[in-house]
Amino acid sequence: MSTKTALIIGAGIGGLSAAWWLTRLGWRPIVLERAANLRTNGYMLGLSGPGYDVAQTMGLVPALRRHERPIDENVYLGRDGRLLWRARYRDLIGDVDWITLSRTALVQVLRDAVGESADIRFDTTVLEIHQDDDGIDAKLSDGRHCRADLLIGADGVHSSVRRLLFGPDEAFIQPLGYRCAAFQVADNLGLGYDFLSYAEPGRLTEFYTLSEGSLATLYAWKVDEPAPVSPERTRQALREAYAGAHPRVLRYLDLLSAEAPLFFDDLNMIDMPKWSTGRTVLLGDAAHCLTLISGQGAGMAMTSACILAQELKQADVVTALWRHEARLRPSIERLQARSRKIAPLFIPATRRAFKIRNMVMRYLPPRLLAWYFTHAIRSEVHAASKGLGIGDI
Ligand SMILES: Cc1cc2nc3c(=O)[nH]c(=O)nc-3n(C[C@H](O)[C@H](O)[C@H](O)COP(=O)(O)OP(=O)(O)OC[C@H]3O[C@@H](n4cnc5c(N)ncnc54)[C@H](O)[C@@H]3O)c2cc1C
Repeated sequence: MSTKTALIIGAGIGGLSAAWWLTRLGWRPIVLERAANLRTNGYMLGLSGPGYDVAQTMGLVPALRRHERPIDENVYLGRDGRLLWRARYRDLIGDVDWITLSRTALVQVLRDAVGESADIRFDTTVLEIHQDDDGIDAKLSDGRHCRADLLIGADGVHSSVRRLLFGPDEAFIQPLGYRCAAFQVADNLGLGYDFLSYAEPGRLTEFYTLSEGSLATLYAWKVDEPAPVSPERTRQALREAYAGAHPRVLRYLDLLSAEAPLFFDDLNMIDMPKWSTGRTVLLGDAAHCLTLISGQGAGMAMTSACILAQELKQADVVTALWRHEARLRPSIERLQARSRKIAPLFIPATRRAFKIRNMVMRYLPPRLLAWYFTHAIRSEVHAASKGLGIGDI
């Protein structure tokens, strides 16, 4: 039997996970990454739920734990620096399995796990895709052509594969009405906390201490009608959005150099009636971006790759793509609905909503808080153990 080839667009969390699983299945993965190297976005993420279970199945948890940045306490201050509420991290996440680490570390662990088994080509993307009953022909940006049995678009929320084969962004992008920026800086100012947030109506800023003497930041704010921001204007737009913020929030902005990588994007959900066409499937944010509010986007990209491999083991490519979607879609729809619901609590827009949210966080007993924060994760883990059936292939 000849070795099957999968052309994977995007060496992010979903793309590298797919490469790992397909290698395990005996396929030959070719991964195209538009960037010159693995993207090093400075943001932190929590891996939990089905994604954590997939990482465990892949044997990656020990490596991920080595990069973990444990958080003891979440401290929330107002714009004037007064304490709004504080909570022990464990009180928020209860006994749910959870690893807090940088996206960069997660991607690096996945890259190391893939090793030499995948052909990863940087500075390369796909320009044209033609499908027939037997395979795919792709024209690549380096002038080469590639024939494959399967094409996976794991190229993130602004997916080119989606645009090439499914239609324009406007058909699928649903803005949540928030914008965010994230970057890493050397902590010259001495944060003094492992996790510190400044919150006010319509704005939230989070700082995580990293052990290398640096900080990971997240700036997130409400925008009613987000006008597009060109890459040259992102720093200026971030400053404008934070006019009048707490001096410490502004001082960390001052430390962001013109050369340092800055992640800047709207919080957009992707909602598509189907994730595959012929022998092409979208995976992760390209198919169903959940936004950072769900706290499950990375995990569900990894889960999608695992389920895809399970189905490819049992069926022909086209059937496997349909079955993969049928298994995953109910979880994704639940998580997307939840993200829409909790967005106004994450960043309350009005003074009144802000006050009520803070009162709840301050006075709710820890056990109820933990239930609130982990309910969706527990439901998905439960659904995964029944319907999703995460496991080895
Ligand atoms: C601030 C922030 C906090 C978050 N927190 C969490 C969290 O706590 N928990 C969680 O689970 N998730 C979280 N997420 C979401 C999570 O990061 C994403 O869901 C996850 O990265 C999706 O993985 P992906 O592989 O689909 O896309 P990405 O990780 O975006 O990877 C896409 C890759 O494709 C490449 N690419 C793009 N276009 C092309 C092209 N045309 N050709 C070739 N390559 C291309 C990109 O360079 C990139 O390497 C957070 C997101 C943000 C922004």
